[in-house]
Amino acid sequence: MPLNIAIDGPSGAGKSTLAKRLAEDLKILYLDTGAMYRGIAYFVLDKGVDPADAEKVLPLLPDIEMTVSYDESSGVQQIVINGVNVTPHIREHRISFAASTVSKIPEVRLKLVELQRKIASERDCVLDGRDIGSYVLPNATRKIYLDAKPEVRAERRFKELSEKGALNGMSYEDVLSDVNKRDYQDMHRDFAPLVVADGAVVVDTSELNAEEVLKKIEEIVACK
Ligand code: C5P
Repeated sequence: MPLNIAIDGPSGAGKSTLAKRLAEDLKILYLDTGAMYRGIAYFVLDKGVDPADAEKVLPLLPDIEMTVSYDESSGVQQIVINGVNVTPHIREHRISFAASTVSKIPEVRLKLVELQRKIASERDCVLDGRDIGSYVLPNATRKIYLDAKPEVRAERRFKELSEKGALNGMSYEDVLSDVNKRDYQDMHRDFAPLVVADGAVVVDTSELNAEEVLKKIEEIVACK
């Protein structure tokens, strides 16, 4: 059985930074499942379809061929849909809420979960997302739930957007409101919502820096 480490939690808890570093240290694959939902959101918006309109989203799904690959030089996971690399677009702020909205549609989730389970069954990996420990891989080797206070998570997101020059006039309060809306939607959807999975270790990162989080998680992962 491959080693599968599931890292779930709300946005801005530090999942991707941690999962990437942990995977590097363990020399195993890092699968960013949020990027897959972002890819679908981008594709749907690009077709002029409202991500909330399941009736219009559903007919698009059979034609979506997604592949996840790795750019060896940058180490950044690439999402390719029908031969087009959508990676440069999926981090835009507008995509975050669209991904949360489109991911409420069970058929969207089932399509991506199938691919996630396939990858996890073939290789040792660290996966981050919202439903990895609770739904995608309930028998994962280790399950971690990363959390932090909403204000701290919004501050991190604000800093990240500001460094990228992608704030587009948004204030910290706007970012906090967006973070709260997205988390509420992720926690309250009917199918595979964000929950603390059975057997998950909860770690609050509010007062910890990235190094401290990594150290804590490596201790948890090492304990047999
Ligand atoms: O992790 P990230 O912020 O990139 O995820 C974008 C959105 O994709 C989340 O807000 C969530 O709605 C959705 N998602 C999900 N299940 C996952 C990963 C992400 O529903 N496993």
